[in-house]
Amino acid sequence: MSDSYDIVVIGAGPAGYHAAIRAAQLGMSVACIDKTTGADGKPSLGGTCLNVGCIPSKTLLDISHRYAATSDYEELGLKVSNVELNLAGVLARKDEVVGKLTGGVDMLFSGNGVTPYHGVGSLLPGSDVKVTKDDGTEEILSAKHVILATGSVPMQIGAAPVDDDRIVDSTGALSFEEVPNRLGIIGAGIIGLELGSVWSRFGSEVVVLEALEKFLPNADERIARDALRSFSKQGMDIRLGTRVLSSDNHGDGVTVTYLVNDEEKTLECDKLIVAVGRAPYSDQLLNDDSPVKLDERGFIFVNEQCETDASDVYAVGDAVRGPMLAHKGMEEGIMVAERIAGFKPAVNYDCIPSVIYTHPEIAWVGQTEQELRDTGANYKAGTFLFAANGRALAGSDAEGIVKVVSDAESDRILGVHIFGPQASELIAQAVIAMEFGATAEDLGLIMFAHPTLSEAVHEAALGVAGHAIHTVNRRKGK
Ligand code: FAD
Ligand code: NAD
Repeated sequence: MSDSYDIVVIGAGPAGYHAAIRAAQLGMSVACIDKTTGADGKPSLGGTCLNVGCIPSKTLLDISHRYAATSDYEELGLKVSNVELNLAGVLARKDEVVGKLTGGVDMLFSGNGVTPYHGVGSLLPGSDVKVTKDDGTEEILSAKHVILATGSVPMQIGAAPVDDDRIVDSTGALSFEEVPNRLGIIGAGIIGLELGSVWSRFGSEVVVLEALEKFLPNADERIARDALRSFSKQGMDIRLGTRVLSSDNHGDGVTVTYLVNDEEKTLECDKLIVAVGRAPYSDQLLNDDSPVKLDERGFIFVNEQCETDASDVYAVGDAVRGPMLAHKGMEEGIMVAERIAGFKPAVNYDCIPSVIYTHPEIAWVGQTEQELRDTGANYKAGTFLFAANGRALAGSDAEGIVKVVSDAESDRILGVHIFGPQASELIAQAVIAMEFGATAEDLGLIMFAHPTLSEAVHEAALGVAGHAIHTVNRRKGK
């Protein structure tokens, strides 16, 4: 007889494990199947995010930032000597953090009564699920509802096939055993910039080849321009409008051939990271005649409530449309668990924060000025520079800007864009304000502690009406 559950979740990444835990909190019996094996050979929950994504990359970003910051200490009146990089120690620290968090999901599963299964889950006709274990044995679970949360994998390009030796994807780039002297990166997207920052701070000479002519096309235009200048100053050589033709791992390094302005060029590097986007993953998940359909790009087709074309089967996270972000998947997982339990929550897809964890960080929520201009919307904007923020100056970290964009008539906030210290934390204030339908004036009327970086958000909101105090407003407001 098969084990039976109210809900079987396939995939224990952020989307799947949030769905599983919330469903268990709501009193349902839940199983969660995941196939990931950690470096120690044991099952490792948490998906891409915890194992080879958000967490290891942020650990390396934080450590590399501290390492690189020591070169500015003299300016602060501090003398440091003998700061040395012990890369093996750094990687061990990263693995320790990953282990703590993946183990934490294990503990949360057992504390909430979620039953984990290690293996590959496949949806059978109806809503039963087959688990194929590493030793090839199979088990059938019967479920009233199934949640598919199988995530995504790095995209590949023919011009630079990953060989896990010198040509790697983001996973390989989290574990270089030595700092490459010369590092090539294909793709100046989020992964290219974050991992480029890590290795550049550790001493690599970094060259990034980006196909588009425009840098960070989804970010605010001014912020993209300022960020490009800043990252170039930090040592990342970002070459836009390039077309990679081929790459050759010749044993001593990699030769990349690319076109720029119709001219063929070559790049020699010790390692090459391919970071050209991620593709939804659903291998071995569905039968050929499954009523669950994929869209033309391979995403599992769902509606706004994450319902697939099969009754009682839902899909969440990177495997479905929308930005491939851990927090987006988490909220979808919670929404689905609660809807199965009879509640009616919804995910607000207009209010998803984006963060790039470079230094300074880039973060935004809502619409950009250029998007509003393109739709002919009437808007107004206020900006404030961190150079005029007391806390940023006191912390010797005063590069960047906050921009608040609001509707010209109603003053309702339409977007907030930040390039600066702690932008990843500051953006939460904007998300809260927008979720509550706040106007720029509302944000301006709120009291912020002094001296804090948050005051830059306050002043940018005041700036929308020309009321910012620590800057001379171009527009005078009453
Ligand atoms: P995943 O995390 O991919 O989890 C899916 C899980 O399902 C995996 O464990 C997979 O092995 C398993 N699985 C797949 N198919 C099956 C099957 N048939 N049976 C059993 N198990 C299966 N996002 C952010 O928001 N912030 C960040 O800072 C950030 N940094 C990132 C850094 C890097 C280097 C990378 C690569 C990604 C980063 N992301 C970040 C993106 C984030 O990791 C993903 O958006 C998130 O992990 C998606 O969650 P998910 O649950 O949908 O899928
Ligand atoms: P991305 O979509 O952010 O960037 C890929 C870049 O590669 C784009 O700029 C694209 O124009 C470029 N590109 C594509 N093909 C190319 C080619 N042949 N030659 C040169 N350039 C090419 O993708 P990513 O950086 O791989 O990251 C994947 C996803 O993972 C992101 O979209 C994001 O959703 C998620 N992620 C999020 C975070 C975060 O939230 N901080 C961090 C890392 C990853």
